[in-house]
Amino acid sequence: MQSTTDIVKPAGFDLILFGGTGDLAWRKLMPALFQAFRHGSLPEGGRIIGVARDDLSDAQYRSLIASRFRDVEGPKQPSAAEFDRFAALLHYVRMDLSKAEDYQRLAATLAERQAATVVMYVATAPGLFTTVVEQLAAAGLNTPHTRVVLEKPLGHDLESNRAINESVARVFGERQVFRIDHYLGKPSVQNLFALRFGNALFEPLWRRETIANIQITIAEDLGVEKRGNFYDSTGALRDMVQNHALQLLCAIAMEPPINAHADAIRDEKLKVLRSLKAWTPETLSQHVIRGQYSAGNSGGKAVPGYLQEAGVPAGSSTETYVALRTEIENWRWAGVPFYIRTGKRLASREAHIVVNFRPTPHPIFKAPIGAANKLVINLQPRDGLELHLLAEGQAQRNTGAHLGGSSVATQTLAPVQLDLDFDKRFGNERVGAYERLLLDVIDGRLNLFVRSDEQEEAWHWVQPILENWDAGFAPPRPYAAGTWGPSAASAMIARDGHCWSEEA
Ligand code: NAP
Repeated sequence: MQSTTDIVKPAGFDLILFGGTGDLAWRKLMPALFQAFRHGSLPEGGRIIGVARDDLSDAQYRSLIASRFRDVEGPKQPSAAEFDRFAALLHYVRMDLSKAEDYQRLAATLAERQAATVVMYVATAPGLFTTVVEQLAAAGLNTPHTRVVLEKPLGHDLESNRAINESVARVFGERQVFRIDHYLGKPSVQNLFALRFGNALFEPLWRRETIANIQITIAEDLGVEKRGNFYDSTGALRDMVQNHALQLLCAIAMEPPINAHADAIRDEKLKVLRSLKAWTPETLSQHVIRGQYSAGNSGGKAVPGYLQEAGVPAGSSTETYVALRTEIENWRWAGVPFYIRTGKRLASREAHIVVNFRPTPHPIFKAPIGAANKLVINLQPRDGLELHLLAEGQAQRNTGAHLGGSSVATQTLAPVQLDLDFDKRFGNERVGAYERLLLDVIDGRLNLFVRSDEQEEAWHWVQPILENWDAGFAPPRPYAAGTWGPSAASAMIARDGHCWSEEA
């Protein structure tokens, strides 16, 4: 029988950061954990254990993270005293993740105490995901209180995604697996859920009878920077559309879930993905525009084209831009075009969803051609909502208009907007995406994470596009850096009688 002194009391959490010296760790994860610590929301008694191959002591790891914090922009800069308090949580274990024996070193560190929750955050090369989960199991580290966080990309096509998910499922239950799509953690996406399911106002309008089209834009003004090598094996479709853009599409198009629990939300998102119109040879050629930036001008300076970027192989056909049109085949959305576009080296850095409502059925006022209501959900760099209405600018006497023989004043309407800036309203020190998601993992909340069937369905839908491209169809169309992408994307939307938001 154990004496009371033998009983190890469960401590807080252990968060193991595989890839603890990598770009994602120091640019996003450590600042997010620090913010959670600063906000007082990180549960007490935690350890954050960085893992990589360098031979570092805890003290050296703390210094490394401290030096990198100085490069992180914005209000996250801590004072020395504040960082020291946070740094006390940081530890380091040297491991080569491909070597089975190194997992014993991690096991020994974890056995120093009994953490109530152990989070294994796999922020390392995707090729190591399967090895890591299998070796965790072999070392007996897949206990019921262990959670595993998987970063994107989870595979590079449907088959490799299934293979990863199957190997993870052999080791962890689905409720232990947290597949990150950090767009779901953005405050603006939380507000989209709040707008749709916490307010009744828009629900009667949220359907085919009133909505003309919906546009999702994730535009970056930067090129591939120093990550040409990584990017070239990925491309815009895998990097942005398969995950972030389709998750946004689900958030905008899903039915109200029966409650706010993870599976209720994920069931509804899955239905949207299953309802996406299947591709045909005709839609693959007409409704998917693939682009690649050439040299141009960005932010007032000349920039090279994609093929001239470091690490990009000569003649690469990797796309840096995708625009596509799809439909959701259900009663709510049948016939409404959904447009998605994303790219690098575009005219501006902005992400938003534009819901374009239909114009009035019978115009009695003068208004700019094509003017109608729209709701803009701004995701970045601003986080907010704009409701565009038509209002009277100045009444003009229109001597040419007659009603019953008498001259009438014809009102000329002009677009105006109600603008809700969430940063101004709630302060820009709000909980960021990675901070929120990390806290959710520690607390075991799965709502904002992607289930395996959802992810597989998203890959299933993009797979015909990948195969079409692999077969040599649709080589990327060039677009000058600093523009809004290939003109074919404007032609595609114009064929429906619509235009992109910046062309309106
Ligand atoms: P990275 O800068 O190349 O860092 C990789 C990390 O993994 C380093 O700490 C590296 O340390 C470690 N590592 C690599 N091989 C290892 C091995 N055999 N054993 C132990 N550690 C090993 O990559 P990253 O940009 O941080 O990306 C990490 C993951 O996050 C990738 O899956 C990426 O796709 C995903 N991701 C990254 C970003 C981003 O903004 N960076 C955004 C979204 C998703 P050593 O080489 O020193 O051992």
